[in-house]
Amino acid sequence: MGLVLGLTGGIGSGKSAASHWFEQQGIGIVDADIVAREIVQPGQPALQQIQHAFGDWVLLDNGELDRRALREHIFQQPQARKALEQITHPAIRASIIEQLQQADSPYAILVSPLLFETNQHKLTARTLLIDASEDIQIQRASQRDGQSIEQIKQIIAAQMSRADKQKRADDIVINDGHLEHLYQQLEKLHQQYLQQSLS
Ligand code: ADP
Repeated sequence: MGLVLGLTGGIGSGKSAASHWFEQQGIGIVDADIVAREIVQPGQPALQQIQHAFGDWVLLDNGELDRRALREHIFQQPQARKALEQITHPAIRASIIEQLQQADSPYAILVSPLLFETNQHKLTARTLLIDASEDIQIQRASQRDGQSIEQIKQIIAAQMSRADKQKRADDIVINDGHLEHLYQQLEKLHQQYLQQSLS
């Protein structure tokens, strides 16, 4: 596996906008959120393990995971969350590694909102934080998802603080202007990462 960059940021900071830009430059992207959904699709071993651990009620009639029922269950029983994560986290990690190994670009990117909160950052050689003020995060996320400002504030409060993420990240891009300004900053870093991928 070549150089792996971890890309993170709070809700509405511009992670997806940044990862689309890198994708357009031909860089292989693995999105931890997508992987987390893939590993519980019907037929996947993790879904069977969840069914064995919790019971048949975790499945909908069409065989898919009943995410809502499971979410309510682990909300009420904290130890159930642990049991669930013991199944999902190793499966997510294995799939991320497999997909990163398949990337055939000079370097590859792991995009994850929980890069620092989980051990996913250990899979990366460098980390890039996309950062924006809370006001901007709220404004962008509410425009994108139609979620209420209260809901977005709750999500921000549950995420690692901006200050902590800033301390941990190797590189930081402040995404508080136009998209063009974001892309200019990414272009500079992209050139650095290309150099680093050679050494
Ligand atoms: P994240 O993936 O971190 O939650 P997104 O990349 O989806 O955030 O950005 C949130 C919303 O804000 C999206 O609709 C995106 O198109 C928009 N956006 C991101 N950066 C900018 C920017 N610099 N200027 C204007 N809109 C932006």
